[in-house]
Formats: sequence, structure tokens, C-alpha cells
Amino acid sequence: MPRNIQENRLFQLSNSVTKSEAYFRARRWQGRRHCPRCKYQRKIYHLKGKRFRCPRCLFTFRDFTGTYLERVKIPFSLIVYLINLFVLGVPAFRIVKELDVNKKTIEKFFRLIREAIYNHSLIKLKQLSGELEIDKTMFGGRRSGKRGWGAEGKQIVFGIYQRNGKISAFPVSSRSEDTLLPLIKRYTKKGSIYYTDEWRAYVSLVFRGKHIRITKEKGKSINEQNLNGLEGFWSYAKHWLYHYRGVPRKYFHYYLKEIEFRFNHREENLFEKIAQLLLTSEKPIKITFPKRKQKFSQPIYLSQRTKSCV
Ligand SMILES: [Zn+2]
Repeated sequence: MPRNIQENRLFQLSNSVTKSEAYFRARRWQGRRHCPRCKYQRKIYHLKGKRFRCPRCLFTFRDFTGTYLERVKIPFSLIVYLINLFVLGVPAFRIVKELDVNKKTIEKFFRLIREAIYNHSLIKLKQLSGELEIDKTMFGGRRSGKRGWGAEGKQIVFGIYQRNGKISAFPVSSRSEDTLLPLIKRYTKKGSIYYTDEWRAYVSLVFRGKHIRITKEKGKSINEQNLNGLEGFWSYAKHWLYHYRGVPRKYFHYYLKEIEFRFNHREENLFEKIAQLLLTSEKPIKITFPKRKQKFSQPIYLSQRTKSCV
């Protein structure tokens, strides 16, 4: 669909509450309304107040019961408008000046989108294989005081990039082998080709597959290998974070997954993708914070299926 027609359609949707509600409803049921609990779809009872009841399991529900949209209390036309602004990357504080909506409402809605993206990306997290670039970097503004890897206010991020494929990025508490190796073991397939720099945490990769170390002199690789894919993502991510003018530390993992999502789906229609995500009923992933004394809380990646954590 040409871009201008699509934008025009979004404009029409965001101007009409009924049209936008119908848009979400059609996507929610994809043909026929059914019971969200037992999937029964023949003869669903219509009750008062836009409620429905399943004759088989007697579950009473509304159109958006169980989805992320159930938690949103703003008109559907505004939802369309805000998703569109989110896709364009307009920060909440800029929108307040244009719209007569409370800043907290916008922030809450944006956080919901980020939460949906975060949960979805962790659920969909698969082991990467093939040619993999592996590296870590630091995020965080310039500060006075200590510099380098352990500096205060900085966040270390670890990334795995499958060449011609997807990236997975994780906030980590250190760049030691104890931290990075479990991530590599869990999210890459044995027998892959690993491209890394010369950092000592990667020495045992040779036991998992082919390990190609990239030696740099004066910033240039001397063996014609590179980590360009991953470096491209780091600069993409830093650009986005700069654009947001700093993000709250306790939500950093949400922002990181948002950027990862943008990067991994950069060729697709993000509006449709996000609208579809908000209509899912994926159960939130439990994020636990370590009790040990730590300057900043680090989320632990705990998936629903397995209990091992990082
Ligand atoms: Zn049912």
C-alpha cells in the first residue's frame, strides 16, 4: 500500500471512534467472535452493555477482554493516533503541546506498548544460529567521575546479531564470562560461527562452534572480518535513545527491546504490528529483580517455560 494512502487511512481512523473501534474489533476476532477461554464460536450470546457469554463454559466477556487494550480507557480514535505517533517516535512531552490529553495518560499508554513489545520479544526469543556477531557496549550519558566499563550511570548491553537476520540485545550487570556465557549458551545454537572481539570472556566459544576473533589495530580490523552488523545496531539504538533524551533507568530494558523490535521489523508496517500486539493476550513475563545490593536494578530474564535465569 502506498505510504500516503496508508497515512490517509490512519487519519480517517483517528478521526472516527466507531471506525477505529471496528478496526480493532475486526483484528481481534479475525472473522468470528469466539469465547476467549474455550475458543467456542457457535452461537455466542449477546448481553447488555456490549458483553457476551459463551454457552459452553458460561464465560462472560467483552470484545477486548484479556488483551492489552482491555487496560486502556481512552477512545479508540486516540489509540490509533497515539500508536501512529509512537511509530514515528514522537516522545510524550512533545505530544502534550499538540493534544489536549494529560501527559500521564500518554506516558501510560506508551509504556503499555513497550510492555507488549517486551513480553512478545521474550516469548518469541529463539536460539540464533549461523553466522553470529557477538559484542557488548555501554549506554549512558557523559558523566564526570569514573570512566570506562564500570562507570556509574552507564548500562552495559550485550548483543547477538545473526547476519542477515535478527538481533537480540540484553542489559547485563557486567561483561564477565559468568554473565555473558550463560546468555550465549541459552540463545545461540551449538555449531554456529561466532565473530567476536578479543575480550577474554569469549575464549571458551571455540568449544561451541567456529570462533573468529577480530583483531583491531588503530580501530581497523586487520583480518578483514568485522562486526559491522552489530555496530550498526549500536548506533541505531544510541540514536533512538538520544532522540528520547534519556530514559528512566528502571524502564531501560523496555526501551532496549522497543529499539530491538524497531530494528528487527524495520522493513515492515510497524503500526499494524503494534496494533496486533496490543490485541494479543500473551501473559506478561515475570521480571524479578535481584535482592543483592546493586546500584541499579537489573531485570533477570526469566521466561515462562524455563526457570533458568541469567
Ligand atoms: Zn467458553
